[in-house]
Amino acid sequence: MNEEQLQREVEKRARERLVERGVTMKDLAELVFFLQEKYHPGLTMEVCEHNVDRVLSKREVQNAILTGIQLDVLTEEKKMDAPLLGILERDEGLYGVDEIVALSIVNVYGSIGFTNYGYIDKLKPGILQKLNDKSQGSCHTFLDDIVGAIAAAASSRLAHSEAKTE
Ligand code: MG
Repeated sequence: MNEEQLQREVEKRARERLVERGVTMKDLAELVFFLQEKYHPGLTMEVCEHNVDRVLSKREVQNAILTGIQLDVLTEEKKMDAPLLGILERDEGLYGVDEIVALSIVNVYGSIGFTNYGYIDKLKPGILQKLNDKSQGSCHTFLDDIVGAIAAAASSRLAHSEAKTE
């Protein structure tokens, strides 16, 4: 597999994995809309979706998605060693590595992303609330942070592109 084929394969799998784990483009676009509607009058879901799509085309983002989801799945399958398994199953607040992985996504479009990420992580609107519901026996310890980070990065991208057109 050459570099170009690998890039295509990574992007395809990252996008598929999100959907397989219950996160659609619409879910992600709704988070961006939630974060940005007050700053961009007339903002449409289409514009939100376009910005999410651009974020998902970045290799750093795809790597974080594949890595985080893999760790969530291995946790569900109880293939992690103790005590890490229990820490991931409980999504312990002091763990923090899930947030570090997510920051590699937030970083892609600069520092406005941090504020958005912190804000959305606190309020947990839409899909984030669903991912946080631990009653299904599924583990989204990494995915919830990744989803919040994608929305934050797409919001920063939107803000930057608006600034450029003004
Ligand atoms: Mg988490």
